[in-house]
Amino acid sequence: MAKNIYLREMEQESILSIVSRFGTQKACIEHLESIRWPNGPVCTHCGSMHIHNRKNSNRHLCRDCNSSFSVTVDTIMHASKLPLPKWFAAIFLIVNAKKRISSLQLARDINVNKNTAWYMQKRIREAMYSDSDDLLKGIVEVDESYVGGSMTNMRKSYKKELGIYPGGMEHKKPVLGMMQREGLVKVIVIDKADAKTIRPLLNKHIDTASEVVTDGFGAYRMLHKTHAKHVKLNHSKNIMSLGKYNTSRLDSFWTTIKRAIVGQYHRVSPEHLQSYLDEIAFKFNNREEDLFSLLITRIIQQEPRIAVT
Ligand SMILES: [Zn+2]
Repeated sequence: MAKNIYLREMEQESILSIVSRFGTQKACIEHLESIRWPNGPVCTHCGSMHIHNRKNSNRHLCRDCNSSFSVTVDTIMHASKLPLPKWFAAIFLIVNAKKRISSLQLARDINVNKNTAWYMQKRIREAMYSDSDDLLKGIVEVDESYVGGSMTNMRKSYKKELGIYPGGMEHKKPVLGMMQREGLVKVIVIDKADAKTIRPLLNKHIDTASEVVTDGFGAYRMLHKTHAKHVKLNHSKNIMSLGKYNTSRLDSFWTTIKRAIVGQYHRVSPEHLQSYLDEIAFKFNNREEDLFSLLITRIIQQEPRIAVT
């Protein structure tokens, strides 16, 4: 354990307490059931509470429709052969790692093979996805950035072949960031950083009564018509703030993202970028919360985003 960088980064007492609280299948099931069914099991097929609780079984039997079901039905852990204590430990390790944990590292930490670790990580990340319709309010900082595809480890000859030069953006994807002053962020991978793509997203996610702070980029030009106030900072003339208006919170969030991604992955494939961002945004937006409990609750209460296969 002493060799494990991720464990060293967090409070060791916490991982020990997770392992001791949720070290058995029974303890995990009881915990999940208390969250999912605070008033007793409900049939996942017909909604009946007329349930026969079988002794020595983790499955319940519905007296009305005769189906049997367990607490993990319709969750990311559904039909998984893996013991729940491994899921609980994986969730704890993923939400508490300061940098993103690699699937190889996770495989070693919880003693599963690397394909299993990759699968678990993918599923756990899906639960961090936020489909919240809550509008960002008050002063909202908006900016776009190019993220992913660090090319530092790519061979020079290969870079040349691809026409990639230092500072090139060939492997990067544009990302739109919107941050409410109190520290709630939304980050969305976009196909193109242009007005046609960006404007509908600003209208969808930012309350019209908000004061929106941006740089002088043309895609933001119409904001004064759609929102209460548009503060444009002319970064090219080195105007980084006007009174209380600046984009410093979002700037430091971009730094966090770039560090997290560059530190772990040399090339982030575009199709996985949004899930990486979801993980970072989830941790940031809930930084005052107990992330482990929060994510366990979401997993057990949330419909899976992608059909379980
Ligand atoms: Zn039923």
